[in-house]
Amino acid sequence: MMPKSRTTVSLLLLPLVLWLPCLPHILGQNVVPFEYHDYSQVTQVLREFHQNYSDITHLYSIGQSVQGRELWVIAISDNPTVHEVGEPEVQYVGNIHGNEVIGKELLLHLLEHLAGGYGKNGTISSYLNTTRVHILPAMNPDGLQGSLEGDCYSSIGRENARSYDLNRNFPDKFEVNTQPIQPETQAIMNWTRSIPFSLSAIFHGGAVVANYPWDNTPLGQNGPSIYSRSPDDDIYRHLALTYSENHGTMHQGDICSGDFFEDGISNGADWYPLRGGMQDWVYIHGECLTVTLEVSCCKYPTQDQLGDHWTQNKNSLIELLLQVHRGIKGQVFINGTDVPVSEATVTIGDRDNTFHTTSDGEFWRILVPGQYSVTVSKAGFSSETRTVIVPGNLTFSAVIEDFYLVENGTSSAPNASVPSLTFIITSTLICLLKVKTVF
Ligand SMILES: [Zn+2]
Repeated sequence: MMPKSRTTVSLLLLPLVLWLPCLPHILGQNVVPFEYHDYSQVTQVLREFHQNYSDITHLYSIGQSVQGRELWVIAISDNPTVHEVGEPEVQYVGNIHGNEVIGKELLLHLLEHLAGGYGKNGTISSYLNTTRVHILPAMNPDGLQGSLEGDCYSSIGRENARSYDLNRNFPDKFEVNTQPIQPETQAIMNWTRSIPFSLSAIFHGGAVVANYPWDNTPLGQNGPSIYSRSPDDDIYRHLALTYSENHGTMHQGDICSGDFFEDGISNGADWYPLRGGMQDWVYIHGECLTVTLEVSCCKYPTQDQLGDHWTQNKNSLIELLLQVHRGIKGQVFINGTDVPVSEATVTIGDRDNTFHTTSDGEFWRILVPGQYSVTVSKAGFSSETRTVIVPGNLTFSAVIEDFYLVENGTSSAPNASVPSLTFIITSTLICLLKVKTVF
């Protein structure tokens, strides 16, 4: 009797078993389980999200790994396939070291949170209507495939398939990097140059700290650990603190054995200098503020810890996204026309760095609250300097300041010095965000 009974029960359950994998589709949304996703499973999750949220997602590849795996990116926004003029772009990159896997999983859960919240949660909807977020869960899929769950400390799987550490493979600001540029690195470089990213985060494991440029120093990676201050040190400290203070434990600074980071943040080279890091390259060549987020003491913890990691990082991931709307943004035009000026330089005070306008004349500068002198200049035009106040409250738009440059040899047209009405509007109409309670 028993065998017959078991058979009957099994047959009765069969339709249910076959139906279960379809459940997320039937509910009209995806659910990412707290289980590890290898390369093919990451690909599958991204495809399903794109299928179920086709209006707000765009799935694309930025290139291939050494072993031919696609480097998948999913963009999420109200209009995900194009850059919309004035909208800032954010880049989140996981798994640059193949054996540091928590960031990859966090990014899949973040995708679920954003996609599932669009149209239901007011803050998520407003954010995605004013911002495009690009998520690359696995930058080093070849290394990932060779990594081992439970391996906290080894370097197995860290490098790409040609044994290059991708976070030592970028051209360096301070010293010559003789490493041949790897396909994964080249893909990141091409991608970063093709989209005007304003904010980037790169996820690692092996520590719990929010780290910011510079990663190298004038003395090089074999020199001492010293604070290597970038021109945007104030806003970098703010971005790093945003992550650590909203994280479940990072701000305590002593989460991993033997480490102590005051407030859970560190200047990169003050921790240890390194040559060829992605962070410094994206900052310089992407003209994009970039932080490195170390999110787990163990590089590849056991799967049962994934839920806790999401809980610890969820608010931080979202709070950091919102910071892209801090500071100023605008467009630069030829005075008296609606013709944009591309490749104009936008300088904040005496900060020794250069940000350029896009082909639509756009610029973004993330800034902490305060008063700034903003200068826009380009050869062949008279430069213009203006004082701008960045408020403390956070909104879905930076302060908008458009500039109208007068071509040399021409007279100034009426709108050369018109105060920005948009600044007044954004300062008065925008609503305050209290993210912890809203999300
Ligand atoms: Zn790493």
